This record gives sequence, structure tokens and C-alpha cells, in this order.
Amino acid sequence: MTPTLRISGLGKNYGNLRALDGIDLEVAPGEVIAVVGPSGCGKSTLLRCLNGLEAITDGTVELDGVVITGPGTHWTEIRQRVGMVFQSYELFPHLNVMDNLLLGPRLVQRRERDEAAKEAMGLLERVGLAEKARSLPRELSGGQKQRVAIVRALMMHPELLLLDEITASLDPEIVREVLDVVLELAADGMTMLIVTHEMPFARAIADRVVLMDAGRIIEIAPPEKFFTAPETERAQAFLKTFEFDSVRHRKN
Ligand code: ADP
Repeated sequence: MTPTLRISGLGKNYGNLRALDGIDLEVAPGEVIAVVGPSGCGKSTLLRCLNGLEAITDGTVELDGVVITGPGTHWTEIRQRVGMVFQSYELFPHLNVMDNLLLGPRLVQRRERDEAAKEAMGLLERVGLAEKARSLPRELSGGQKQRVAIVRALMMHPELLLLDEITASLDPEIVREVLDVVLELAADGMTMLIVTHEMPFARAIADRVVLMDAGRIIEIAPPEKFFTAPETERAQAFLKTFEFDSVRHRKN
């Protein structure tokens, strides 16, 4: 079966900085990959290279067996197939929720307003936000805004969804409402690359976990293996950063 995504020898330089260095990864249809690693290791750059937000330096990216990183790529077309959700929502502040959701389908895909609005309403219902269709983004909580941003990506019917730390700016108690939506997408068979610092979530949702460090992939493993018996010392050290030894403060 042709992988949805095939990344081969992908490299990205920012001046002298080698942000990505020889990334190889295949993602099968319906597969969910959690990308983890220390801050600055290149996770976000990797996602951004996959939908043309960054020009790559070397290597290739194939979508459904077709190279999309060569010259002449129509990124507007590719971005409909490769959706992305960002930490910072990126909703238009002056448009209400429904108009934010209709912008891409109307302008890029030339879809009929009524038909697209019906789909948007159905998706809003699924994420529990039907009553917010006429609200402006500033009238929503962070968790609600992020659920709208996910719906906006789904409106384009992407075959691959890239999620870049989508809960990183949310309060802990509302992280769950966003992650539940993503868990449902995974159960529905959506192919996803998810950059996250939420390790229990990565463990629950991923078919495979990818650990990056300094622009390279260090380890790829199924979650049970990665979180209980990681092979590399780097993975062991990374996972240790999520542990806390209990500290007793004693008054002497
Ligand atoms: P992560 O998402 O893992 O935190 P990033 O992909 O954001 O890491 O960054 C990888 C490296 O590339 C970091 O050293 C970062 O400082 C650098 N970097 C990211 N974006 C740019 C940019 N636009 N210009 C220069 N350096 C960048």
C-alpha cells in the first residue's frame, strides 16, 4: 500500500543551523504518529516543511506517492490535502465562527455556502460548539477556539492532519476537551502527525511514537514499547524529564 506520507532524507537549514538533518519517516493511511522531543529539536519545523510553510533544504516529501517538494508544487492545493492546526488557533478575529469555517471552502474550494454551512454545523455539533456558530473568536475560551480551529481544518477534507502542540497554551483543565476531539478523529481513521508534550495522550493515541533530538529521529517505537522500554539512552533520558522524585521538606 502506498504510504500517505513518505519523508526521505529531509533536511532544513536556517542559515548555519541544521534544524532538520536526514529525516526518514513513512506514515501509513490511518496511522497516528506522535512526535515528541525537547524544545528546539525540530518538531515544528518538520510539520511546517510538510505543507510548504518552510522550504526544505534537501530530501523529498511524497504525498500518496507523489513528490510535493519539487519545483512547481501548488501549495494551495497541497494545503487542502494536508491540514494543519497550530498552538495559536489562527482564527480571523473579525469573523464569527461560521464565517471562519466557510472561508477556505468558499474561497479555495468554491463550494456552495449552504452546503458548506451545513457541514460546518454538523462538525460544530460533533465538537459541542453548535451554539457558538455566530460568536466571535474573542467570545470563546481557548479550548473552544482550538476546537473551532480543528473543525476549520476538517472542512477542507484533508487526507493528513498535522497538529502542532495544539494544547500548549491551554489551561490543564481544558486540555482534555481538545484532546478528546483528536482521539475521536483517530478512532474515525484520520491520518495524523501530532507534535505534543502530553505524554499520556501520546501514549493513548499514537500507533507509533517518534522521538526527535537536534534535528534527527532518535527512536521510533509503538507507544507501549517507547514508554516502558525505550531502547536509546536519549529516549530514557527524555522520559526521565517527565518524572519527579518526591521531595520532603523538613524543618530541622
Ligand atoms: P521544536 O518545535 O522542536 O521546539 P523548532 O522546529 O521550532 O523546534 O525549531 C528547531 C530549531 O530551528 C531551533 O533551534 C529553532 O531556534 C530554529 N528555528 C525555528 N524556526 C526558525 C526560523 N524561522 N529561523 C531561524 N531558526 C529557526
